[in-house]
Amino acid sequence: MQHHQILVVGGGAGGIAVARSLMKRRSKLDVAIVEPSDTHYYQPGFTMVGGGIFHKEMTARPEDSVFPAAATRYRAAVSSFEPDKNQVTLKNGDRLSYDWLIAAPGLKLDWDAVPGLSDALGKGGVTSNYRYDLAPYTWELVQGLKGGNAIFTQPPMPIKCAGAPQKAMYLSCSEWEKQGVLGSIDVTFANAGPVLFGVEAYAKALMPYVERYGAKLAFGHNLKSIDGAAKRATFATAEGDVVMDYDMLHVTPPQCSLDFVRNSPLANDAGWIDVDQTTLQHNKYANVFSLGDAMSAPNAKTAAAARKQAPIVAENLLSVMGGGQPTHGYDGYGSCPLTVENGKVILAEFGYGGKLLPSFPWDSTVPRKAAWFLKARFLPWLYWNGMLKGREWLAGPKRIAAKG
Ligand code: FAD
Repeated sequence: MQHHQILVVGGGAGGIAVARSLMKRRSKLDVAIVEPSDTHYYQPGFTMVGGGIFHKEMTARPEDSVFPAAATRYRAAVSSFEPDKNQVTLKNGDRLSYDWLIAAPGLKLDWDAVPGLSDALGKGGVTSNYRYDLAPYTWELVQGLKGGNAIFTQPPMPIKCAGAPQKAMYLSCSEWEKQGVLGSIDVTFANAGPVLFGVEAYAKALMPYVERYGAKLAFGHNLKSIDGAAKRATFATAEGDVVMDYDMLHVTPPQCSLDFVRNSPLANDAGWIDVDQTTLQHNKYANVFSLGDAMSAPNAKTAAAARKQAPIVAENLLSVMGGGQPTHGYDGYGSCPLTVENGKVILAEFGYGGKLLPSFPWDSTVPRKAAWFLKARFLPWLYWNGMLKGREWLAGPKRIAAKG
């Protein structure tokens, strides 16, 4: 059995960033990363692909190109955590042991939870920006639709990038407005939840766009099944099932923790890796930390959140490794650049409890061209060249305030 000082599970946004942050602080660490995929995706770019702004190739790079050269790579998937033995088992049956574990395997897009969805996707007007290969189909549908019903769904929270379901709608409407066909298209936002956005200040700021595009808000509508042949979607509501015909259907799939996470001793009752929301240390296993979409903290699950979490986990792990206590704290920061029209973004930035945490000295509820520039140019650059390289720009970790 191979042993490593630090084992990182998942080489996505959080896993690569935290490995870099650790190795930047201490170059001699023995770090191994377990990651099955050959491709690393910049998922925040998928929305821009669906909106016809990015080519899909701009959102993917070979995994090897983002890997820290000094880390050991296991091109494999973990199938179980055994934290009482300080071990993980891989899908091929091999085991790895560790002194310190960082779990960052992301979450599960549960396509099969909606009967009919998997079969319907990618044809007959059914698409999703949540899949790299399907985001271009969103744009193809948007360009082709000249009239009829367009439905955009949002499943129950938590999901990654809570704004992405409606970003797809706004960018589609923006294009239809430009083409002069918006008036012939009935747009519905079918949201399982009760509000447009979880932070009231941003929900308020979005309403003028909902009105401008004439979108109907169907709250409490949870996608239940799809009949792809009949182009019909059924939604569960408190008043019973509601059936809607569609010409275009953009689906955000239900999301939950990965099976091997949910079935492990690391999970809380809801299935997420059970961490302290400030230190990101596991609540039961002191040699385990977690970040990104897989863990239990009630922040918005975003790459922007993982960018802030990575240096905090690095600092705290090194402190605990040296016999100390966690020294740095996470305030729940997450960010969601809401692409309300082609050329303007409301840059939602907030922390625990919906507290607004703008990075810039401006009113973040105002749609801005400068924020569009950030989304379209700066943030992808920051991701590939900052976050994934251990350069902690816009992510300096904050010390936990001393008590008393
Ligand atoms: P991921 O980046 O998903 O990485 C998880 C990694 O774990 C993957 O590489 C995966 O292959 C690996 N893995 C999976 N299973 C195993 C296993 N069994 N063993 C080992 N490894 C495993 N965020 C923003 O900040 N802004 C946005 O505008 C934004 N928009 C988004 C739009 C869309 C359509 C989507 C899909 C996401 C968006 N996000 C956005 C969210 C953001 O991409 C995620 O929150 C972020 O990638 C989470 O990082 P992570 O490391 O936890 O998970």
